[in-house]
Amino acid sequence: MEDLRELYQEVILDHSKRPRHFSEMPGASHQADGHNPLCGDRITVYLKVEGDVIEDVSFQGAGCSISTASASMMTDALRGKTVDEAKDLFDRFHRLVTSDPSHAAENAPAGSELGKLAVFSGVCEFPMRVKCASLSWHTMKAALEGEAGASTE
Ligand code: ZN
Repeated sequence: MEDLRELYQEVILDHSKRPRHFSEMPGASHQADGHNPLCGDRITVYLKVEGDVIEDVSFQGAGCSISTASASMMTDALRGKTVDEAKDLFDRFHRLVTSDPSHAAENAPAGSELGKLAVFSGVCEFPMRVKCASLSWHTMKAALEGEAGASTE
């Protein structure tokens, strides 16, 4: 278990130091700003949706390592997905990070379906960090729903 936790921390550290798809997107079809006042994380998520497929997704902003890593990994996970699949992933991710740690075993199936995103399962033990991890996802959902922004408050 300790090894697993170390691996998770490495993945999060890697994505926070070298975030993927960290750029503005000219010609984005959807975008929204997210703000987590609790930690001070700010993020803008850009999406290019054609038909109902997410062709491209990127983000910009400034935040703590958890929020940056989460946004980076989200952009990896969403490319090529349909809008419905993205909303479904949002629900699974949200369940993963907000669940009671004592029910971790029940959440294992949800974690395995999330692939690499399961590294954030440890976040539910730190309520302060849950909003950091979910900020990019709330912002992505707001963008897809045509809203200008999302706040974790
Ligand atoms: Zn944060």
